[in-house]
Amino acid sequence: MRARLVLLCLALLAAASGASAQDATPPLSLKGEWRQGSLLFGQTTPGAEVHFNGRRLRLSPEGRFVFGLDRDEPAEASLSIRLPGAPEWLTRYPVAQREYQIQRLNGLPPKQVNPEPAMEARIAAEAAQNRKARARDSDYASVFAPFAWPAKGAITGVFGSQRILNGEPKQPHYGVDVAGPVGAPVVAPADGVVSLANPDMFFSGGTLYLDHGYGVSSAFLHLSKILVKEGQPVKRGEKIALIGKTGRVTGAHLDWRVNWFESRVDAQQLVPPQGKP
Ligand SMILES: [Zn+2]
Repeated sequence: MRARLVLLCLALLAAASGASAQDATPPLSLKGEWRQGSLLFGQTTPGAEVHFNGRRLRLSPEGRFVFGLDRDEPAEASLSIRLPGAPEWLTRYPVAQREYQIQRLNGLPPKQVNPEPAMEARIAAEAAQNRKARARDSDYASVFAPFAWPAKGAITGVFGSQRILNGEPKQPHYGVDVAGPVGAPVVAPADGVVSLANPDMFFSGGTLYLDHGYGVSSAFLHLSKILVKEGQPVKRGEKIALIGKTGRVTGAHLDWRVNWFESRVDAQQLVPPQGKP
């Protein structure tokens, strides 16, 4: 009895002194690399409050959560967890910085570098549509199931690459490009709900977004045909569109992008190497 009382007092002392931060580490498992472009999956105690870089994360009833490290994520990120009635536990993690393919092209005619000023209003309106699709924060748990390739074919473009045209850095390439003939099928890489279906965007042509839940979305660009409607739920493997060469492209391919809100992550990390099941 006495020994138990002493132990209890020691525990209270430790808690009060703050030296117990390590002892108070909440249960946490994390899957994924602390590297630019990664999507990380976590699990902690149900009911906990989890913040990534100060942003409150949606927690599943089982205590699962997900967050993404942007293409240009700074070298340090923070994750904090607060269990009901406990002090906040905050850890900083180093984020591995990636080198991206940079291509410099000079001496181009200006109209090849920037769209016509007359297109500005349309481009801005379409950018707002895209941002709205990426801002969705739904509780679909599809994101926690494995992803599959949305199309088969040679990889012709990778995440993060960037062109600098006449000294002007253009928007980086956020997707993985899969070459394929016009009309080849595009299937849903995971369950989701169609959050945007626009057959004709200036840059990306036929454009489709799927909301996989918890802030994670897929985008499919340059489609020749969209086979689903906004608001429609789709299943992993279901045919949703056809590959095309619409928008500003040189050849037929699927550009598949994965986002965690406005953070751009590397879709390729979510699927096995091509050719493997
Ligand atoms: Zn592309």
